[in-house]
Amino acid sequence: MGLEAARARLFDCLRHEIRDKRVLSAMARVPRERFVSPDHYYAAYEDMPLSIGFGQTISQPFIVALMTQALGLKGGEKVLELGTGSGYQTAILAELAKWIVSIERIPQLAESAMRVLKELGYKNFAIHTSSEALGWPAGAPYDGIIVTAGAPSVPDVLLEQLVLGGRLVIPVGSRWEQDLLKVTKRKRKHLVKSLGGCRFVPLIGLGAWEES
Ligand code: SAH
Repeated sequence: MGLEAARARLFDCLRHEIRDKRVLSAMARVPRERFVSPDHYYAAYEDMPLSIGFGQTISQPFIVALMTQALGLKGGEKVLELGTGSGYQTAILAELAKWIVSIERIPQLAESAMRVLKELGYKNFAIHTSSEALGWPAGAPYDGIIVTAGAPSVPDVLLEQLVLGGRLVIPVGSRWEQDLLKVTKRKRKHLVKSLGGCRFVPLIGLGAWEES
């Protein structure tokens, strides 16, 4: 199947699952084939994760749409992303919010994501290479935080970087499978909603997993 036909088929499916029209049109504008290696060019619009090297993956389009929708972006937000990877999710966020801070621990991935995002004309983002500590406190507080790697629990350090009423979308579970959580920050008891099962590569760092 050609790229255009695969793309049309993917968007037909997404339209049935995703309510937020802004998310659907952002996904329709971002060329996912630019974020995958030439080997995966014809698989760019299959609804599955693809390898991006260094043992990491670009997330499945449906999961990108679901996580982005859960952030409830209106356009004026400052958003933190953990796990730049290919930069695909960063591009979707850049379409939908005012300013994106994206953190990646593998410098080569950070560099190639930066290059592709610049080539596509995005200007409202910054990518930083992370240290051990999770997130990017220097830019806090954020209106929304999205974590595109799986954590053993909801990290307090990330909730500290979020505004009151802000949302943290994060896969939580084992190293191999997780539950996708939407956590709304409250003064006392945070609101936690499960969005379903998922499989992400592990989030590495203090308060998350150790590198294996
Ligand atoms: N959003 C990405 C998915 C990347 S996979 C995309 O659309 O392509 C998850 C990424 O998280 C990997 O690149 C991995 O290196 C990175 N990662 C893991 N632990 C991290 C941490 N503590 N801080 C930042 N990035 C991390």
